[in-house]
Amino acid sequence: MNLLLILGDQLDPESAILREANRDSDALLMIEASEESTHVWSHKNRSALFLSAMRHFRDDRINEGFRVIYRQLSDPENGGGLSSELARALREEDPQELRVLEFGDHRVQSSIEATCEDHGVPLTVVVDDHFFCTQQDFREHARGRKQLRLEYFYRELRKRFDVLMDGDEPVGGSWNYDEKNRDSFGKEGPPEIKSPLSFPPDAVTQKVLQEVEAQFPEHPGSLENFDWPVTRPDALRLLRDFIQQRLSHFGRHQDAMWTDQPFLYHSLLSAALNLKLLRPREVVEAAEAAYRNGDVPLPSAEGFIRQILGWREYVRGIYWEFMPEYGKRNALEAKEPLPDFYWTGDTEMVCLAESIGQTLKYGYAHHIQRLMVTGLFSLLLGVEPKQIHEWYLAVYVDAVEWVELPNVIGMSQFADGGLMASKPYVATGKYIQRMSNYCSSCPYDPAKSVGEDACPFTTLYWDFLDRHRKRLEKNTRMGLQLRNLDRKSDGERGQIEKQAASIRLRCRRN
Ligand SMILES: Cc1cc2nc3c(=O)[nH]c(=O)nc-3n(C[C@H](O)[C@H](O)[C@H](O)COP(=O)(O)OP(=O)(O)OC[C@H]3O[C@@H](n4cnc5c(N)ncnc54)[C@H](O)[C@@H]3O)c2cc1C
Ligand code: SF4
Repeated sequence: MNLLLILGDQLDPESAILREANRDSDALLMIEASEESTHVWSHKNRSALFLSAMRHFRDDRINEGFRVIYRQLSDPENGGGLSSELARALREEDPQELRVLEFGDHRVQSSIEATCEDHGVPLTVVVDDHFFCTQQDFREHARGRKQLRLEYFYRELRKRFDVLMDGDEPVGGSWNYDEKNRDSFGKEGPPEIKSPLSFPPDAVTQKVLQEVEAQFPEHPGSLENFDWPVTRPDALRLLRDFIQQRLSHFGRHQDAMWTDQPFLYHSLLSAALNLKLLRPREVVEAAEAAYRNGDVPLPSAEGFIRQILGWREYVRGIYWEFMPEYGKRNALEAKEPLPDFYWTGDTEMVCLAESIGQTLKYGYAHHIQRLMVTGLFSLLLGVEPKQIHEWYLAVYVDAVEWVELPNVIGMSQFADGGLMASKPYVATGKYIQRMSNYCSSCPYDPAKSVGEDACPFTTLYWDFLDRHRKRLEKNTRMGLQLRNLDRKSDGERGQIEKQAASIRLRCRRN
C-alpha cells in the first residue's frame, strides 16, 4: 500500500500522482494544518479558499472510490502541524512508500523529507506535469547564462509549445506587444465592465468559513466577500467567463488602476491555477483560440499568454533553482520594519489605502497594484525583504511561495541584486497618477518631492536613487534616472533626504 500525500495546492484530479494511483490498494492523505495559516499571518480568505477546495476535492475522490485519510482542522486529535500529522499517518498506516507531487514551497519540502526519513518511509517525489516546463528544463535554460531574462525564456517556450506561432515566426511578426498594453483609462475612467462570475459559498464552504472565523479570529481580512471558485468545474466557468467578457480589453488596460474597481479586466485565475484546479495549458489554449477565432485582439491574447506561459513558468524556475538561499537575499541591505498600515489600510496615501483596502476585503489586488503601489512603497522606504515577503505570502489568496517569493524578492524589491529584473522598478508618484485616479483624491501632490503636501512616493524615489547611487551607477538602464537626479541642487537633495527620514520615522511609528 502506498500513501499518496495530496497537498492543498495540488488539487488536479488528473495530476501525475493520481493518474498512476491504484484505487484498490493506495490511500490518499490530505492534511488541514493550522500551522499553514499561522507560519505567516494568513488572510482569512486565503485559509478558507485552501480548506474549502481541499474538502471539495476530498469528497469527489471518495465518490470516485478512493480511500481518503483526511485530517480536518477541527478534529480533536489534529495537532496542527503538517509534519506531525504526516508522522501520525505514517505510524498508523505503515505504507510501503509515501508518494507526493513536486512541492510548491521549500519549507514544506524539507519538513516532509525529514519526517519520512525519521520514520524510515521511502519518499517518491513525482514530477508535476501541471507546468509547461520542468525544473530540469529551467536548469538547462539557465546553465551558462550570466543573466536570466524572461524574454528569451518565453520565446523558447512559445516555439517549443507552438503557442501563437506561424511556423518559426511569432504570429503578427512580434514577440511582444507591451508597448500597446500600457493605457490608462483617462479622466473619464473605465467604462462599465461586467463583473466577474460570482461563486456564492455552498454548504461545504459555509462550514469552512465558520471554522476559519472561529480558529483565526484575529487574522487579517474579512470573510464577508468570499467569492472564489473552489472546484474545477467552477474554475473552468471562471475561465470561460474571462475569455468571453474581459480578455479582449485585458492587454490594453493591463496596468491601469481605478478607485473602487478592484478587478477591471483581470482574469482572477491565479488562485485556481495555483491550487491546480485549472491547468495552464488549457488557459493558454483558450486565449489563443479566442485570438484565432477573431474574438480578441493579438496584443490582449499575447499579453495574457505571456503572464502564464512566460512569467509563471519563469518565476517557478527561479525559485527552485536558487532556493533556499534566494529567500535570504537583501542586495540593497534594506532594514526598515513593514509599516503597520499594511495590515489595516489605515493611511492617508490614497493609492496604498485603496490597494491594501481591497486586499483585506478580497485577498486580491492586481499585478500593478502589487508591483507599483504596495511593492514600490516598500522598496523606496527600504523595508526588510523578509518582512514584505511574509506580508505578500499572507494576504493574497493566490500566494504559494514558489510564485510569491521571486515576484517579491526579485521583481518588486530588487533584493536579488538584478538576477530576475534588469533594473529596480522605481518611479515617482507621477507614475501612479498617470495610471490611476488615486492621486485626484489624495492630500499629496505627486509632482512634489519636498514640502508638507509632497507625495511620499516622490520624496522616497529621489532619496532611493541618492542612497543607492553607487550601486545603480553600474546599471546602464538607470542612466537617465540618475542624470535627472544630478539636475537637483545639493540644497534640494538635502531637503529630500531630511523629508525621507521623517517619512521613515512616521512609518515606523504608524
Ligand atoms: C510583489 C508581487 C507579488 C505577487 N505574488 C503573487 C502570488 O503570490 N501568487 C501569484 O499567483 N501571483 C503573484 N504575483 C503575480 C501577479 O500579480 C498575480 O498573478 C496576478 O495579479 C493575479 O491576478 P489575476 O489572476 O487576475 O491575474 P491576470 O492579471 O489576469 O494575469 C493572468 C495570470 O498570469 C499569471 N501571472 C501574471 N503575472 C505573473 C507573475 N508576475 N508571476 C507569475 N504569474 C503571473 C497568473 O497566473 C495570473 O492569473 C505577484 C506579483 C507581484 C509584483
Ligand atoms: S499623491 Fe502620492 S501618495 Fe497620493 S495617491 Fe498619488 S502616488 Fe499615492
